[in-house]
Amino acid sequence: MWLASTFVLLPLLALVVVGILVLVFQRATVDITFGVLILAFCVAVLVGAIWLVFSLKRAADLSQLQLDFLSKVSHEFKTPLTSIRLFTQTLLEPRPLTDEQRQQCLQMLDQESERLNVMIGRLLDLGRMEAGSMVYHRQPEPVDAVVDSALRAFEPIRLQEHVTLATDVPRDLPPILADRTMLSQALLNLLQNAVKYGGDARRIDLRCRVDDGEVEMSVADRGPGIPRREHRRIFERFYRIDDRLDRKQEGSGLGLAIVRHVVQAHGGSILVRNRPDGGAEFWIRVPAA
Ligand code: ADP
Repeated sequence: MWLASTFVLLPLLALVVVGILVLVFQRATVDITFGVLILAFCVAVLVGAIWLVFSLKRAADLSQLQLDFLSKVSHEFKTPLTSIRLFTQTLLEPRPLTDEQRQQCLQMLDQESERLNVMIGRLLDLGRMEAGSMVYHRQPEPVDAVVDSALRAFEPIRLQEHVTLATDVPRDLPPILADRTMLSQALLNLLQNAVKYGGDARRIDLRCRVDDGEVEMSVADRGPGIPRREHRRIFERFYRIDDRLDRKQEGSGLGLAIVRHVVQAHGGSILVRNRPDGGAEFWIRVPAA
């Protein structure tokens, strides 16, 4: 900053003063031209300097973002990798293991490698989305087809977690222009989050309706909700609200970033609010076809 003021602002100020003096004490037309030229030159230099400072700041922000991204990716990969190493070493130990212990180790290896697999898949998807190279196959789809596809994938999780799911999907909704796979995965993501962060009530509501030419699909849980100040940040990649409840849950903070990309690629929007009687509600709005 002091560099900018010493080498740009001070000489500029001096020139502006000279320009004004020349204009005030003008003796001939040549002085007017000279004064105007000096002032125009000052304005051009000032605009250039401001633009340069903003460009440098943007470049610095971007490289900071890339550094954060790298350190978060490495951190997220380290956890399952450490577990995989641990269980592999246990299996390799000369000390004999019981069948049950061996089975447990293999199950953990399977689980942790699947976790890595999902994380890498999500990262690749997000990379493609952010680079704008993700291909969406959008075509007119009935809303219930998108919802049913999400619900089929959700069913095993629902059964395993003993969750009650109430659905309200009117059959007369207008179709939407959607990539069925991608949009149903976005919905599935919201359902999974409702299970992960929905607390002990174990109840989720999924509702669809049409509003102002847009189809709205909402997922509500009965958990603690999301503090108002976090409503924007939770959609940033890798962002997780840092409290004990979230830390108990596995996650990479990529889910909602991906959901937002998918919804925006459908010309829609995603919103979140806290329900008056407790819990978070996310809703996706996409234009009717
Ligand atoms: P992940 O679940 O992998 O951490 P997400 O991007 O899906 O990542 O979510 C980001 C964060 O938003 C979560 O870590 C959690 O803190 C918060 N969050 C998401 N859904 C809910 C919800 N239904 N209730 C409360 N908090 C939520």
